[in-house]
Amino acid sequence: MLISRGQTFASVRCDRHAMTRILERHGEGVEKAAVVIDEQYVGHVGILSAGGGTLPSKSVDLLVIGAGVVGLTVARSAILRHPTLRVLVVDKEPFVGAHASGRNSGVLHSGVYYKAGTLKARFCVDGNRAWRSWCEEAGVAVRSCGKVIVAQTEADVAKLETLHSRGTSSGVRLEWLDGKQLEAIEPAARTHQRALWCSDTGAFDPEEVMLALADELAARGVEIRLDCGFERREDDAVVVGGETVKVGHVVNAAGLQADKVARLWNAGEHYRILPFRGLYLYGEPEIQFRTHIYPVPDLTMPFLGVHFTVTRGGRTKIGPTAMPALWREQYGGLSGLVPGEMLQIGADQLGMLLSDPTVRRLGMSELRKLSRSQLLADARALVNGLDARQWTSWGRPGIRAQLLDLKTRRLHMDFVVEPAERSTHVLNAISPAFTCALPFADHVVETYLPFGR
Ligand SMILES: Cc1cc2nc3c(=O)[nH]c(=O)nc-3n(C[C@H](O)[C@H](O)[C@H](O)COP(=O)(O)OP(=O)(O)OC[C@H]3O[C@@H](n4cnc5c(N)ncnc54)[C@H](O)[C@@H]3O)c2cc1C
Repeated sequence: MLISRGQTFASVRCDRHAMTRILERHGEGVEKAAVVIDEQYVGHVGILSAGGGTLPSKSVDLLVIGAGVVGLTVARSAILRHPTLRVLVVDKEPFVGAHASGRNSGVLHSGVYYKAGTLKARFCVDGNRAWRSWCEEAGVAVRSCGKVIVAQTEADVAKLETLHSRGTSSGVRLEWLDGKQLEAIEPAARTHQRALWCSDTGAFDPEEVMLALADELAARGVEIRLDCGFERREDDAVVVGGETVKVGHVVNAAGLQADKVARLWNAGEHYRILPFRGLYLYGEPEIQFRTHIYPVPDLTMPFLGVHFTVTRGGRTKIGPTAMPALWREQYGGLSGLVPGEMLQIGADQLGMLLSDPTVRRLGMSELRKLSRSQLLADARALVNGLDARQWTSWGRPGIRAQLLDLKTRRLHMDFVVEPAERSTHVLNAISPAFTCALPFADHVVETYLPFGR
């Protein structure tokens, strides 16, 4: 199908990957799209915004760098509180959610894992509820599939107890399952003695959410400029897409690039973002698990181990892995390669592998998963009768932006936000930041933005 510049069209039928390709080719011309995602959803109209041309706003109250879920929800929270604010969101890519926000597992997490007192624990439970009601209002489907956490050993059962008490103290609804009850919920899953059932966990399509969010923002008067990268700071102005815009306050929500952007405001100086690449292995379309299946995670690691997730459209996939990447946007081949960045990140990754036993364990276990057979071997521990021949297609990778504290040489496990001169820097919007985004954005706006309550 051909889309010409400025054309408003009623319906584009495509799968999620085809939609991405269309947007990549026609980023400047696409203004509205009704999309079919995963061949199942018909008729959503997303305003994707047109890039190109000169910026209408030469002066704004709030500039948000990054049209990922953090940037868009911060803009939303600000405009809801202060409807007269002039808000501009810019992104260097031609469509919203081009990085982590459009390339994640699409799991609406329940908040079972996080220690009370952390920002993740605080926002995940609220975020789950907030997205459910937002999705209902926006007409975005949520699959209420729930999730089981299964044990493989006696030691895992003891760790499940820890998760149970962490989760219930944060307000997550959890139930113990014996083998029979587990089988009734998900016949494919297997466990050692007991499993935990989190009925609040769900699935949505992150790209669909991002489109609907952009749509809402446009309707509320927020300007979103795509293909319009932030370039530099100049006194009370910034240069974006080659043009100077006067700004009252800047929110840096640049994901993988957030530390580099922050440095221009002398913020985040003892941090660096390390990229971790996540791959997905899809089952044949006829494999349709009813629920997500997760192992008991190693709670000292930032990632959750090999698991099965169900997409909003009903496909089942294994992953994501969490392999250290050598540059921030290393999705495949050499694209996005920045040689200086590779040297720096390579040195950091190596330094951590040598000095931090947790990272060393993580690196070794992730390295194995580059092999499909090893990944399947780990996955096989969670289910009955997995047939390798039915798990052959790799999905689009996503890259996690994980903050390294350069003083302690440790990975940061919670959100990090730093204020600086007339700016706020979101430095560690780690998983499950998608789930947490709505209340997290309220927190950022209420705590750091200067526009009053
Ligand atoms: C593989 C994977 C699986 C995950 N699974 C889940 C899950 O199931 N559930 C969940 O809740 N969370 C999940 N997460 C976490 C979640 O997706 C991310 O934490 C979240 O999307 C981060 O959002 P963000 O807006 O900070 O970053 P991003 O989505 O990366 O957005 C940052 C944006 O900034 C833009 N940008 C960068 N530099 C500039 C510049 N100079 N000028 C203009 N724009 C710029 C980028 O183009 C990008 O669009 C997962 C993440 C990954 C990678």
